[in-house]
Amino acid sequence: GKARYEVFSVGMRTQVVSRLQLENDLRRAIASAIEGNSQELSVHYQPIVSLETGKIAGFEALVRWQNSQGKFISPVEFIPVAEETGLIVTLGEWILEQSCRQLRIWQQQFTMQPELTISVNLSSQQFAQPDLIERIEQILKKIGLNGHSLKLEITESMAMKDVDSTIAKILRLKALNLKFSIDDFGTGYSSLSYLHRFPVDTLKVDRSFVSRMEETTEDAAIVQTIVMLSHILGMDVIAEGIETASQMEKLRILQCEYGQGYFFSKPLHAEAATALLSQYTNS
Ligand code: C2E
Ligand code: CA
Ligand code: CA
Ligand code: CA
Repeated sequence: GKARYEVFSVGMRTQVVSRLQLENDLRRAIASAIEGNSQELSVHYQPIVSLETGKIAGFEALVRWQNSQGKFISPVEFIPVAEETGLIVTLGEWILEQSCRQLRIWQQQFTMQPELTISVNLSSQQFAQPDLIERIEQILKKIGLNGHSLKLEITESMAMKDVDSTIAKILRLKALNLKFSIDDFGTGYSSLSYLHRFPVDTLKVDRSFVSRMEETTEDAAIVQTIVMLSHILGMDVIAEGIETASQMEKLRILQCEYGQGYFFSKPLHAEAATALLSQYTNS
């Protein structure tokens, strides 16, 4: 009926308009970030902790956006828009550069053994860029950062899309000594028969398994299997989304090397992360 059609079309129009608005706002926020005067976009850092020693091994960089009206917009909402519009390429490069600069500052400020690393999420569009290697090389050189301090996170679904070309690309980036993690492991269509071919250093067990591992024996078994398999393949493991001491303890017993989650810390802005680091290094 007519009424129904109108309700539908009004709803759709609202959606399209707000989506366009988001895109425009994001485009502007990125432009001013690149000019070096962004108050809207920032990078936060979440510690990745060694479950054996309790020390901070590194941080994952996570982008934050507080728009001009002061509203926080989740990356779950705006990263896909950035992907579809191609904005992710400039945004991603800005995040990468910010993160590398911050790590360089920390490395000079705190002498830690082993050295701190920074993990940066790579979107599929960024990963597909033909000149990605040159761009990363340039950033590292400009900042004076060693390739081995930088770890790139690609999701399992990205990695499995075109296995051969993914492997080739990773190998070329590894020539810069970069490290790689497979993110959200266990959530995509992973083919275990391909896993051993990926020249990656780390698997990140998705939060969904960690959060349920004390509730269902299936999830506990999945986590244990991922940890064992990773070790057989010579990779280490980061458990995502650890929220309780008992989750941490179970993962430590499984010999999972690293943990990340609210139990240790939420993602922090640079100053708060620096304060956390000085606490850790003083003790
Ligand atoms: P992700 O890469 O899997 O990042 C981990 C997400 O889990 C982050 O959400 C983090 O804040 C959250 N998290 C960490 N510990 C806990 C915990 O103990 N409990 C709970 N409930 N959540 C926890 P965030 O920052 O909202 O990011 C969501 C997703 O957006 C990321 O998932 C990633 O896919 C994407 N994203 C975030 N920042 C970037 C970025 O700089 N570049 C790209 N390409 N994607 C990003
Ligand atoms: Ca990640
Ligand atoms: Ca993840
Ligand atoms: Ca995730």
